[in-house]
Amino acid sequence: MSKILIVEDEPAMQLGLKDNLEFEGYTVEMASEGDSGLEKIISNGFDLVLLDVMLPNMSGFDVCKNARAKGVSTPIILLTARGEEIDKVLGLELGADDYVTKPFSVRELLARIKAILRRSEGQGSNKDTGNISIGRLTVDFLSYVAVENNSEVKLSHKEFEILHYLLDHSNQVVSRYDLLENIWGYDEQPTTRTVDNFIVRLRQKIETNPNAPKIILTVHGTGYKLLI
Ligand code: CA
Repeated sequence: MSKILIVEDEPAMQLGLKDNLEFEGYTVEMASEGDSGLEKIISNGFDLVLLDVMLPNMSGFDVCKNARAKGVSTPIILLTARGEEIDKVLGLELGADDYVTKPFSVRELLARIKAILRRSEGQGSNKDTGNISIGRLTVDFLSYVAVENNSEVKLSHKEFEILHYLLDHSNQVVSRYDLLENIWGYDEQPTTRTVDNFIVRLRQKIETNPNAPKIILTVHGTGYKLLI
């Protein structure tokens, strides 16, 4: 699950945000000063940062600018107070991804967090997956080419997509319904049996012994798990 850093100095706000985010399943860490917040952001272990603007030691604006200057690309949502310089928040030079104005509704904040995480996960997967070796294959997800011992192995578009999805969620259980929803979408109406058939075909291309899979494992009663 995604890890979120909250940089905020008001105890009540800290606590409220932490509770709500943890309730949603996020892992949360806190910092209550600008400089310690910046250090944590630069340590780069977070998927998203909620950054208050008015902070002790260093303003959220400066924290954001400094983090970007150091090459940190973690999404940042600024928590601004009414009357703060929204123009500046929106300015490109600051590098924030979004902002909410206090008092904000938790539901609105959560929606923005989810939208930004979805966006950055998508980018991450494009960036991270050039040539990847999966079992017998070396797969290039940018050009959709799979190779075994220098000769191309044909994978259908759906097979590439399933493999990509499993890879994005490697070492996690992916249910058949996750795959149906994300690969086939709502318009098409395949069954979970369709998913199983695709997995069988993928295993034949990937696994050394497709009958005793070591890479795409079956998680009984649920779905699959790609080990990498
Ligand atoms: Ca504050």
